[in-house]
Amino acid sequence: MEASHLLHSGYFNPTLRSWHGSNTLLNINQLIYPVFVTDLVPDESSEEIPNFPEQRRYGVDALVDHLLPLVNKGLKTILVFGVTTSSNKASNGEYASSKDSPVRRCLPILRSKFPSLTIAVDLCLCGYTSHGHCGILKTDGTIDNPASIQRLAEVALSFVQDGAHIIAPSDMMDGRIDAIKKILILNNLASSVAVLSYSSKFASCFYGPFRDAAQSAPSAGNRRAYQLPAASTGLAIRAAERDVIEGADMLMVKPGGPFLDIIKEVKQRFPHHPLAVYQVSGEYAMLWHAARANAFELRAAVIESLIGMRRAGADILITYFTPQLLDWLKEELQY
Ligand SMILES: [Zn+2]
Repeated sequence: MEASHLLHSGYFNPTLRSWHGSNTLLNINQLIYPVFVTDLVPDESSEEIPNFPEQRRYGVDALVDHLLPLVNKGLKTILVFGVTTSSNKASNGEYASSKDSPVRRCLPILRSKFPSLTIAVDLCLCGYTSHGHCGILKTDGTIDNPASIQRLAEVALSFVQDGAHIIAPSDMMDGRIDAIKKILILNNLASSVAVLSYSSKFASCFYGPFRDAAQSAPSAGNRRAYQLPAASTGLAIRAAERDVIEGADMLMVKPGGPFLDIIKEVKQRFPHHPLAVYQVSGEYAMLWHAARANAFELRAAVIESLIGMRRAGADILITYFTPQLLDWLKEELQY
C-alpha cells in the first residue's frame, strides 16, 4: 500500500479525530431557540401543541418561567413567534402591531428579566390575518405586495420600539428588507437592530407541526406563489442576492436537512453574511419520533444533523432541540 493511501493513521484516537473539521463543531452561541408566545389567559398558563411533541405555546409569564433555567444554562438567543386567537385576526393583520399582542407585551418583560438574552422576533402577517396568508390580499385573492411590505415595516418598527434586537421577516414578500431598513433609518433605529432575512425559504411539507403551533395555516390557497419551489436552486440564490442588495444583515435557508446543497451554495456565494439554518418543526418531529421508535439515540442524531448543516456552511442554527443542546454541548463530544 502507498503511504498516501493510509487514512486511518490520521484519526485513530479521539484527539486526532477532533482535529478533523474543527471549524464545523457546535457551540451554544450558534443556537437560536424558537418559542411561541400566546394571548392565552391567564399569562401563567401554557398549552400543548398537537403534532409537535414537547413544544408548547406560552402565556407571557409562563414564557419567562420557561426561559429562566435555559438562560441560566447559557441560552443566548431566542426567536419569538406570536400566536393569537381567531377573534383578533383581520384581513390586514392589524393585531400584529397592537400594544395588546402577546409579542409586544412580552418584549419589554423579556428585556428587563434577561438583559443578556438576544431577542429575535419573527415578522409575518399570517398569524394575524383572517385568511392566513403572509401578506395583504387584493380583491382577486393575490398578494398586494406594496401594501404588504408597508404593513410589515410598520409591525417591525413596533417590535423594535418594544425592544427586539433582531427582526426576522419570514413572509417572503418582494422588497420587504428594503422597506424594513428604510423605516428603521427614518426612525433613527437602524444601527441598533439587525435584520435576519428568511431569504431562501422553501414551500415545504416539513412546516406541518409549526402551522399547528402558530395557528397560521391559510384558509384558502397555499403559499407556493411566494415561498420557493423545492426544486429551484436558482430562485434560492436570487432571493438571497436580492436580500443582500436590500441590506439584510444575515441570511437564512429553511428548512435545513433537505436543503444542505442550498446552504452550501448560499454560503459560497455570500461568504460575508452570517448564514442561519432553520431545522424546522417537521425535521424536529421526524428525529423525535424516530428516536422514540428506537431507530437511534436522539442526542447522537440531533448532533449529527446539526453538524451536517455546519459542514454545509451554517453559522447559526435555529432548532427546537436548543434546550437539550444546552446540556449536551457542555459534555465532551465523542469523536
Ligand atoms: Zn407567514
